[in-house]
Amino acid sequence: MANGKIGVSTKDLFPIIKKFLYSDHDIFLREIVSNAVDASQKLKVIAQRGEYNGDVSDLKVRVKVDKDAKTITVSDNGIGMTREEVEKYINQIAFSGAEEFLEKHKDDAATIIGHFGMGFYSAFMVSDKVEILTKSYKEGAQAVRWQCTGDPEYTLDDDNRDERGTDIIMHISEEEKEFLDEKKIEDLLNKYCKFLPIPIVYGKKKEWKDGKYVDTDADNVINDTEPAWTKKPASLKDEDYEKFYRQLYPMAEEPLFHIHLNVDYPFTLTGILYFPKIKNNVELSRNKIQLYCNQVFVTDSVEGIVPDFLTLLHGVIDSPDIPLNVSRSYLQSDSNVKKIASHITKKVADQLEDIFKNDRATFEQKWDDLKIFIQYGLLTDEKFAERAQKFMLFKNIDGKYYTLDEYKELIKANQTDKDGTLVYLYANNKDAQYSASETAKQKGYDVLLMDGQLDTPVMNQFEQKWEKSRFSRVDADVIDKLIPKENANELQLTTHQKSELEETFRAELPTIEKTNFNVSVEALGASAMPVLITQNEWMRRMKEMSQIQGGMMSFYGEMPDTFNIVVNADHPLVANILANEESANKEQLAPIYSDIEASEARKNELNKAKEGKKDEEIPQADKDALADVEKKLNELSTKRVSIISQFAHTQKQISQLIDLALLQNGMLSGEKLAQFVKRSIDLMK
Ligand code: ADP
Repeated sequence: MANGKIGVSTKDLFPIIKKFLYSDHDIFLREIVSNAVDASQKLKVIAQRGEYNGDVSDLKVRVKVDKDAKTITVSDNGIGMTREEVEKYINQIAFSGAEEFLEKHKDDAATIIGHFGMGFYSAFMVSDKVEILTKSYKEGAQAVRWQCTGDPEYTLDDDNRDERGTDIIMHISEEEKEFLDEKKIEDLLNKYCKFLPIPIVYGKKKEWKDGKYVDTDADNVINDTEPAWTKKPASLKDEDYEKFYRQLYPMAEEPLFHIHLNVDYPFTLTGILYFPKIKNNVELSRNKIQLYCNQVFVTDSVEGIVPDFLTLLHGVIDSPDIPLNVSRSYLQSDSNVKKIASHITKKVADQLEDIFKNDRATFEQKWDDLKIFIQYGLLTDEKFAERAQKFMLFKNIDGKYYTLDEYKELIKANQTDKDGTLVYLYANNKDAQYSASETAKQKGYDVLLMDGQLDTPVMNQFEQKWEKSRFSRVDADVIDKLIPKENANELQLTTHQKSELEETFRAELPTIEKTNFNVSVEALGASAMPVLITQNEWMRRMKEMSQIQGGMMSFYGEMPDTFNIVVNADHPLVANILANEESANKEQLAPIYSDIEASEARKNELNKAKEGKKDEEIPQADKDALADVEKKLNELSTKRVSIISQFAHTQKQISQLIDLALLQNGMLSGEKLAQFVKRSIDLMK
């Protein structure tokens, strides 16, 4: 019998262990079970070296919950400990500087535990008393029993245990009695121990008999001791990767690709990453990459360890070089961890490039699902963005895929405007922008399909990075102005005609909530549509970005949508409307125009007289005259507009043409659509 005090300032340590690890009490089981696994593996190694002749064929770790005794026992038949080893490894957990270290990190128990390599002591988070019953594999070793009630006092006695190995008996405290629930322990084992390399036995396998589950004789092994990531890639088939994926995420859809990571220099890292098929955003956050350290589960919050964009991936990363029990901030500043992150990025890029090069058909086939990952990487990771230039694809509205270089080559000749800017045309809704896309295609232009969640920010980024390039939605303007060329059509109307035509259509503009309309008259050729609707690229994109980013950008999100109603003066129907308007209003408008002309002349004259004079030098009579003439001009203009509007109201065709354009853009619905249908029928009478 020996009594003693554990050799550290443990009076500080125990309260810290108990208090600060509160949120993470679960990990005690991981610590104790992985110690048992270590002890088993050490024995295996010793046996392999020929230093032990006993039987190592049945190494197992058993976990038992005894509700009555209020204990959890973790047993192994590994190396065990001699009395000296217990003294050394369990009692003397301190080394020089411990006290200072404790003081410094007293708020961060995880760091303390990791730093001191004293996972064993985490048992005290949940126990009033812990017993170690152990017998070393060494010949003639005497079994010992160590007991400690959570203060620095312990006892160490001889015991008559005769099997090799160790039992850790944890007497669960009243506050922690939830851990005596069998299901709870099963869940923890499944979380932390699912892929440990030594079989973990938890109770017996059950079978369905006479209407209920009953224990069989067979041990219930809860783990897979050789998970796929620990095997050589060459020994695995696609099915094996798929099977492992289902082991990790039983409910997820089949993944798109997998990447087997296998690094041994400058650090050790294995793992398998999967590009998942994402149906919706919810799924994104549910299944996560799991981080392991020698097959012991550490965490599934890998932010800061894995590059941000790769946190969307699924799978497993295992590295003994990732410190197990340290705090997140420590982890993120760890240089090994940083190297690991950039290495993973490189590996992922390598693999994507390989697949693209070797099997472009498959890559294209999966592109639509893959796109979001690659674009996310492109936007958030400079290094990855560089690499992705090679395998980032554009898809056009006909479903053809091009690399960035290929696409540039394709459109260079035809889609460069008169200033030498290359214009990438796109649709983000094939149906809504169908007719604009058709018009572009007839012109020999190609139209990209940009309907992904991240397409807008990606286009913004390309525009910033690429010289003399611009993206424009295919309905952002009329075709000739989308890509302005030298030989654009000229409008053949007089100033009066142009403005009368504008007013005619302005008089019949639709009213749609949070939507503004402008009217412009253009010469688009007789075969183009009589009326088109366009929407300014820049404003629309600002709005789209505001939806993604919020914050500062939300100002744009509040703004109404502004559309242009473009009236094609070349179209016969429009020419007809103008001709009718002119002949109907000629007599009434003629005197107004001459009045306007005279007033304009007078206004110019008065303005000229003002030139170069200070305000006080201008005669009051002149000032009054100017105000009068401006007022008159306003009245004349109002009168003119009212005459034109009155005419427009009698012309059903105008609203009809506008509605047809709205309809073509998917903007006509509800009451407006009903009115349109009714008017169409009236017009047929
Ligand atoms: P770590 O495992 O990080 O070294 P622990 O506090 O968990 O720290 O364990 C301290 C030491 O106690 C271990 O290194 C090991 O030598 C010994 N030990 C703990 N559990 C067992 C066990 N089940 N069998 C044999 N030795 C053990």
